[in-house]
This record gives sequence, structure tokens and C-alpha cells, in this order.
Amino acid sequence: MHAVPKERKEGNFSQRRRAASIAELERGVFDVLVVGGGITGAGVAREAALRGLRVALVERRDFAFGTSSRSSKLIHGGLRYLEQGDVGLVREAATERQTIRRLAPYLVRPVEMLVPVASRRGQAKLRVGLWAYDKIARVPEEERHRILDKEEALAVEPLLRPENVHGAGLYYEYLTDDARLVLAVLKRAAELGAVALNYASVVGLLSDSRGVQGAEVRDELGDGTFRVRARVVVNAAGPWVDAVRLLGDGGRPRLHLTKGVHLVVPREKVPVGRIVVMSARDRRSVFAVPRERVVYVGTTDTDYEGSFDDPPVSLEDAEYLLDAVVRTLRCGSLEPSDVCAAWAGLRPLLHEEGKKPSEISRRDEIWVEKNGLVSVAGGKLTTFRKMAQRVLEKVEERLRAQGVSVPPDRGASDVDPLSGGETGQDLSAYAHGLRARWPAVAPEAIERLVAIYGSLAERILGRMTAEPELAEPLTPGSPVTRAEVEYAVTEEMAATLRDFLERRTRMLLFDLRNGLPEAPEAARLLGELLGWSEHRVREEAAAYAESVRALRTFVSGRVAGRRTAHA
Ligand code: FAD
Repeated sequence: MHAVPKERKEGNFSQRRRAASIAELERGVFDVLVVGGGITGAGVAREAALRGLRVALVERRDFAFGTSSRSSKLIHGGLRYLEQGDVGLVREAATERQTIRRLAPYLVRPVEMLVPVASRRGQAKLRVGLWAYDKIARVPEEERHRILDKEEALAVEPLLRPENVHGAGLYYEYLTDDARLVLAVLKRAAELGAVALNYASVVGLLSDSRGVQGAEVRDELGDGTFRVRARVVVNAAGPWVDAVRLLGDGGRPRLHLTKGVHLVVPREKVPVGRIVVMSARDRRSVFAVPRERVVYVGTTDTDYEGSFDDPPVSLEDAEYLLDAVVRTLRCGSLEPSDVCAAWAGLRPLLHEEGKKPSEISRRDEIWVEKNGLVSVAGGKLTTFRKMAQRVLEKVEERLRAQGVSVPPDRGASDVDPLSGGETGQDLSAYAHGLRARWPAVAPEAIERLVAIYGSLAERILGRMTAEPELAEPLTPGSPVTRAEVEYAVTEEMAATLRDFLERRTRMLLFDLRNGLPEAPEAARLLGELLGWSEHRVREEAAAYAESVRALRTFVSGRVAGRRTAHA
């Protein structure tokens, strides 16, 4: 394959323009510097860019490296918050999920969720809850809940253990791809002029009499540090929020981290047709989510104190989740050796004295430190846009205090599509249209590209046509083409093999072979695009194989934390 042809214009979200991005970050004074490229930071960058502010964002690893690629991947309507009596949060989550669906239909797929109940009392409670939820969340008519009796529930999901089923409720949740949602939000911010860079860690805060005025940033792919000057710095570092605060005035730690584990098993082992809510041995609810050829099961909720990078999954976590599946579904025995991938995410919750992990509010909180640093934590993927609007209120206050005039908010974030969002609401009709334009490409390949990249599938199809070599699969029979490697580097800032296979294509988690067959060729192509030595290419492939091995290995015993029962 050739490197990117000269005439192809590379935008400001290309890893090949890294040096230019650093030079741009060093130039002049930004209105806002966002620390952290998860959903919170991406949302703030987009909101600020839509309001015409000059925005920079730096991320110490890859975009969505933290919690934002390790969630349950649901755009929640918020039924759970009804149980906690938080009607406001239900309404906000429900409105937001419709907004995100409008802004990026390819990233929000309605799916049925089945909630079995074991008793008449449970059924009555669920009936009232789902009725109230439909009203409060203003659920569209075609997605309203149904209450099923035992026979109906077993007909819908024959895998349920009949002895535990009195009936069930069936309603809709929306499934997303969390890491790609972050990319879609951030790429839109970049299209609007924001300068975003991954593998760039904030290692110090720059301050003067006005308070924090920028940050010292270490280039994790090169050597040395550089300075980004900004009138307001937003600390959106998720689990690392306290660590970034400590670079300045510090103050007492505010975060309470809990760990949530998900396991991936082949769908043939747990062949459910929809999301099924299951009951764990301590009566917590966990769910099984079918996704193409796999099903993922989650989540746990335990206090956590270990390392924040790649938190480990313990054997105890794995056995707890597999046990919940076997208790609820007739799927034979399930062993840790059946697990083909797993991930653990850290919830950056705000500390609440005396509360169990599951009782702590999932609401976000935004506060301004004495030195002017704006910190944000808590929250969810689902409500990223609202959270960003609240952060912008603080940012604008800080800008006005420094005599900077702030353009009025024109409400654009409610209507401005995310990157890839220009497909229209009917994705099949959109894919059908592409089939007419690219008759040589297999229809299922087009559908797959639309599901991952939305309307930007056209860019990849265009490349495949212009250079037929790019249309070739990475290995015979693989769904992933060479064009996607090139696209990931030049339009999505991928810098490592794991960036590509874990967060750009989701092969690491959702492919039965974790993308291992594709890894050597993908590494070779990345090497061509990024100028790696042969040694580096081999190292990347070996590091990837090692991360797959780690994903399938469970640490014995308890891992720095205590399981807390949840009623
Ligand atoms: P993160 O995604 O962790 O981003 C912070 C980023 O900051 C990281 O990428 C990190 O590398 C970077 N960073 C840290 N320090 C520095 C530094 N010094 N310099 C530069 N960058 C730095 N929400 C939902 O809506 N739906 C769900 O289904 C759902 N499921 C969940 C399941 C689990 C198990 C968990 C843990 C959470 C879930 N959530 C869900 C909540 C949601 O995932 C999180 O609230 C959200 O992802 C937090 O995003 P964030 O951007 O604040 O943090």
C-alpha cells in the first residue's frame, strides 16, 4: 500500500499532522483548554467550539482510553434513576437519548430489554414503574413498555429458567458504541476548529495572578514538553480528576471510584435475542447484552483503589457475573475459560459520606477551584451534552471575569449533527443508497461501514474505489479493510495498533478472535503510515497479542476493593 497520496487533504484530526497540531497548541492563547479526551472532555470541546470559542483538548493516552470506552454502552432512558426517586435525572436522560439519536442515528440503536420478575408483587411494582417511566420519559408510542405473563415471557425469551419467572416487562433501551461516540463528538469539535491531541499529558498547570492560565503538556509519543496557554482550563480527567487538581492547589480528594466489570462470551453460549436483566446471587441486577456474535454481561459495582490504567478483572468478578447468567438462563455451565474478552471501567463518582457504591448519585458535579480550574466529574455518557452546557456556564463566567466577550449561545448543540451523523434517521435506506453508488462492494460490507462510521462510510468507500488495493481485507475473510487503517490514522488520529483494533473498530472486544489474525497486517500498514521501523511493527503486534492474553486472564482473589451488596 502507498502512504497517503499527496493530493488527499489531511484534516486537523490526522496523526500524521501531529507536529503541526503541537505547533498550533503552542501558538497564541486559547479560550479553553480541556484536559481529558473522554466523553466529558469531548462534549465540552464541541460545545465550546459551537459557541465560537478557541478550543484546545489534550488526552494523555488515546481518546476514550478511560471510562468512556469501558461503559455498558447504553444510552439510558434512566429507568434506574426512577428507583432512586430522581425524576429530574430520568427526564434529562430520556430527552438526551432522543437528542443523541437525532444527532447521530448510527450511534444509537433501540433494543428491547426484558426484565423478568419472580413474583406477583414484583410484577405489580414493575408495572407501576414502567408506566411512570413511559410518562416521565415521554417514550415514543412505538417504544412503550409491555407487561408479559409467564407464558409470553418464555415465548419471547425461551432461555429463561421457567421456575424463576412469574412474568416480565419489556421496554426499550438504546445501545451505543461508547468509544466511537467520543470520536464522533470530538471530530465534530475538530471540524469546528478545536485542536485536539492524544498522547499528550498535562503534567503541570501554568498560573499567574488571574489563576490557572494553561498547562505544561508532555508529548507521550515524542520527547519533551510544551506549553498551552488558555484563559480557562477545564479538568475533565474522569477518574484522574483529583490527580489533575493536585497539580494546582489540590484540596481534599473528591472522587469515590467504583469498578464495573463486563465479560464477553460467544453468543452461541448464551443465545439471547435481546438484553435480559438477570439477578445475581446478592440480588443485584446485571444484564446480558447481545451484540452480533457475542454477548456481554455486566456489571459489578465495587469500591476500587488500584491503578487507574486498565483496572484488573478478578476471578471473583468473573465468577460473580457468570453465576448470574446461569441462575437466570438455561445455557449450561459457563466457565471463566469461556470468556473471550473482558473490560473494567472506573466510575468517577462524587464522594458521599456513608453511601454504598450503588447508592451514590450518578449526577455530575462541576466546581471551580480557588485557582480558577473548572473541574467536572460524575455524570454519564447519555447526558454529556447537558453536562457540557453546564460546564460552559462556568467557563463563560471565567472568561467574562477576564474581560473576554463571549458569543451568545445559539443552542446549536441540540441540532448540529455529530461527525458521521448525516445519514438521516433511516439507516437501511441510507445504506441502500450507498449500495447503488458502490455496486461492487458487498451489501453487508456497506451495512457494517455505516454502522461503525455513519455517513463517513462514504469516505472509506471513496478510498476503496480510488485505490482498489485499499478495498482488500486485512486477512482473507476479515470484515476489516485496509482502507479503515488508513482512515483511522489520517482522520481519527489512531497512533497504535490497540487504538485501531480496540477503540476504532472494536475488534478487541467484540470479535471472537479479538482481531488477532488481523493484527500483523494492520501493524504493518500503520507502520507505513506512521513511519515505524520493522522492529516497532513487530513490537506493536507482540504488545497487542499480550493485551489479548491479559483480557482473558483473571487475577485471583479480590482486587483492591470490597464487594458491596446492593439491595
Ligand atoms: P473518562 O472517559 O475516564 O475520560 C477522562 C480522560 O482523561 C481519560 O481518557 C484519561 O486518559 C484523561 N486524562 C487523565 N489525566 C490526564 C492528564 N493529566 N492529561 C491529559 N489527559 C488526562 N454511562 C452511560 O450513559 N451509559 C452506560 O451504559 C454506562 N455504563 C457504565 C458502566 C461502567 C462499568 C462505568 C464505569 C460507567 C458507566 N457509565 C455509563 C458512565 C460513563 O461511562 C462515565 O460517566 C463517562 O464515561 C465518564 O467520562 P469522562 O470523560 O468523565 O471520563
